[in-house]
Amino acid sequence: MPTPSNTSLLRGILELLYPPSCLACSQVLPVRAFFCETCDTAVERVPPACCRTCAEPGRFPSGNCPRCHIHPPPFARAWAPFAHEGPVSRAIHRFKYEDHPELAEPLGELLAHEAHSFLRHAPAVLVALPLHARRFRERQYDQTQLLAAALAKATGRRAPVGLLSRTRETQRQVGLSEAARADNVADAFTASPAAAGQSLLLIDDVFTTGATTRAAADALHAAGAAHLEVLTIARAFSLST
Ligand SMILES: [Zn+2]
Ligand SMILES: [Zn+2]
Repeated sequence: MPTPSNTSLLRGILELLYPPSCLACSQVLPVRAFFCETCDTAVERVPPACCRTCAEPGRFPSGNCPRCHIHPPPFARAWAPFAHEGPVSRAIHRFKYEDHPELAEPLGELLAHEAHSFLRHAPAVLVALPLHARRFRERQYDQTQLLAAALAKATGRRAPVGLLSRTRETQRQVGLSEAARADNVADAFTASPAAAGQSLLLIDDVFTTGATTRAAADALHAAGAAHLEVLTIARAFSLST
């Protein structure tokens, strides 16, 4: 068990080996920060006027966007601090597709910091939207589970493994229509009976149309989960474009 003094020594050594760098452009930084100054000014946050259920930007008379109004989602609310644009999108791409599992920790800290208000009333148990086993073997890490573990560490929560699994392989959602996205992920997930009665916070990197999140939430409800909320790093603005 490291003592506080050798924890700071260890941190010092790690910072020498891996100096702090910008999450988006990887430029080495003189002090610990998430982004360099240039990237920081280009970061876009989700606007305050948005759907009260899924955070889609816009002013909606009922409080809910048309998608949530017509098909109420199987979760109480979904939120993300950032728009899926610019430096945040770049950071997620590096983390997910460019073999940078070490970005989980700073991204988890960034999410804890930026989603502070949302997290105050959010469930204490985190569930990552998992990769299929074959994709996990290819990538060697499940980025969402690493992100959930880092967020759990930063917020004093738990992120148990095994409550949710992806039992059917799906193609990437990028470029698919909304209906095709829903078909692609239908019945792709199975939840453990251990989810029964639990209040859970689903974690993913990006929320786009919510099709994947809906499929995961359906599986958790089928296993008896009592209450579900969703937090992602970024939100793609899917109705306004
Ligand atoms: Zn940068
Ligand atoms: Zn909505």
